[in-house]
Amino acid sequence: MQWVIIDSRVYDLSSFAKLHPGGQSVLLDPEIAGGDATEQFFALHRTEVLDRYSRLQIGTIEGEEAQIKSHIPGSLSAVPYAEPNWLSPGFHSPYYKEHHHRLRAVMRKFVDEVVYPDAQKHERDGTPPSQRVFDEMARLNITAMRVGPGKHLQGRVLMDGIISVEEASPSQFDPFHELIINQELSRIHARGYADGLAGGTIIGLPPIIKFAQPALRDKIVDEVLSHKKALCLAVTEAFAGSDVQGLRCRATRTKDGWIVNGTKKWITNSTWAHYFTVACKADDGEIVVLVVERGEGIETKPIKTSYSSGSAGTGFVTFDNVHVPFENQLGAGQPGLNIILANFNHERWVLTVSTIAGQRIIFEECFKWAAQRKVFGKPLAAQPVIRQKLASMISRFESCQAWLENITFQMCAMSAKEQAKHLASQIAFLKMHATRASQATAADAVQIFGGRGITQSGLGTHIEHYHRTLLIDAVGGGAEDVLGDLGVRQILRLMPRQARL
Ligand SMILES: Cc1cc2nc3c(=O)[nH]c(=O)nc-3n(C[C@H](O)[C@H](O)[C@H](O)COP(=O)(O)OP(=O)(O)OC[C@H]3O[C@@H](n4cnc5c(N)ncnc54)[C@H](O)[C@@H]3O)c2cc1C
Repeated sequence: MQWVIIDSRVYDLSSFAKLHPGGQSVLLDPEIAGGDATEQFFALHRTEVLDRYSRLQIGTIEGEEAQIKSHIPGSLSAVPYAEPNWLSPGFHSPYYKEHHHRLRAVMRKFVDEVVYPDAQKHERDGTPPSQRVFDEMARLNITAMRVGPGKHLQGRVLMDGIISVEEASPSQFDPFHELIINQELSRIHARGYADGLAGGTIIGLPPIIKFAQPALRDKIVDEVLSHKKALCLAVTEAFAGSDVQGLRCRATRTKDGWIVNGTKKWITNSTWAHYFTVACKADDGEIVVLVVERGEGIETKPIKTSYSSGSAGTGFVTFDNVHVPFENQLGAGQPGLNIILANFNHERWVLTVSTIAGQRIIFEECFKWAAQRKVFGKPLAAQPVIRQKLASMISRFESCQAWLENITFQMCAMSAKEQAKHLASQIAFLKMHATRASQATAADAVQIFGGRGITQSGLGTHIEHYHRTLLIDAVGGGAEDVLGDLGVRQILRLMPRQARL
């Protein structure tokens, strides 16, 4: 008979011992067998393991109550700094209204119950998110909300009516709703899968909403927001990433439409996309943006990256003599470059939102571990160097979150024209700052977790994943150095001529 106590619960391991992945002998250790093994258990396992083997529990210790609680789907964390200020008891915020809190609560539950289990499975096997998750996102209109405020929300029932028709109106639905959805979706510890959840639509649909002819716009909005079809944004090429003007994908005007020839690289969701929002060079050297439907002459091949083996649908796209009707050109008569550049601000803001939320959940992992791991006879958190790392993490993500909320508030208050003028540099600087902060946090987290921090299973599994995948945010939507440079070039233009030391 092999019994053990973990957190006041008694488990019979007799039948399980032979199957124990860490070997039977550790369970027979006199410090463990027949006694209280709570500390030893949590030095090696996550709480989920206890949940998974709950069938082995045969009783509880009389007069005692289990202290360690499993995560209840939808619940807030009680760990200090694991939630932003606006969700922490006793704190106040000028930004979030009651309906933001309502949205946050249902999103957390949806992410915990529906998205997280699917994400963990598909991130590992490198396959796209389940259609079941897409269907639920369509029913609740989550992807529609992630595209931002606008007319595309009119008449939609948001989150089963949790957000009322009035709250969905352009005067009430604001970028804080989007921020909430994206921060909640960033809690799944599956960075590639997170982009697999219609990342291409989030960045590829806004130009269609703003610049497509109404018939094309309405058809595509309907198809992609219902997740019957998928869309991606295809700007980058092997020869032109940061330098958008250097595009080589060619669009030739003929008497009955455009003919597209060229390639695109690292295009998110492209391997399963039905539509491509494509930036091309016309014969006169100007950039034109075309909506291209998958068909003859288009091929997509998966690209494996360190951030995703396939769940993001990252691909290489080739266009060989692809015919595109004239009515599929976005904003005909306007410079296509402006359409692409205007779209970048939203994309960069979305990436910044998720990279900041990512830092916070990694801090929570680290803080829990620093409190439970014993080294040299005391908890890891008793080491000043560890406390310093935790303090640095908190300072980084709290300052990023405060700046992000300020910029988001400006997005609520400014017109589109004012945002283009004032926020491009703000968003560029914040994205650069936030992704550098993420890299510092990842490095600190690996040190705190030791070998577990670079192991793809067990206690450090989320740290390993974060450290391996976070650089997508530092490169995608504009590389860090390029964004810093862009921001300073923009403010140099605003420098008053009379300003002198
Ligand atoms: C996984 C993944 C998914 C992506 N998804 C998409 C997508 O869906 N759609 C899409 O269109 N694109 C996508 N991209 C492309 C992404 O936006 C580009 O990789 C990015 O813009 C940088 O371009 P590049 O890789 O060609 O780097 P380059 O332009 O070749 O630059 C390389 C490096 O040189 C430096 N550099 C370049 N120019 C300057 C400068 N002016 N000042 C200072 N330093 C400079 C920077 O450090 C930069 O990182 C994706 C990329 C990846 C890796």
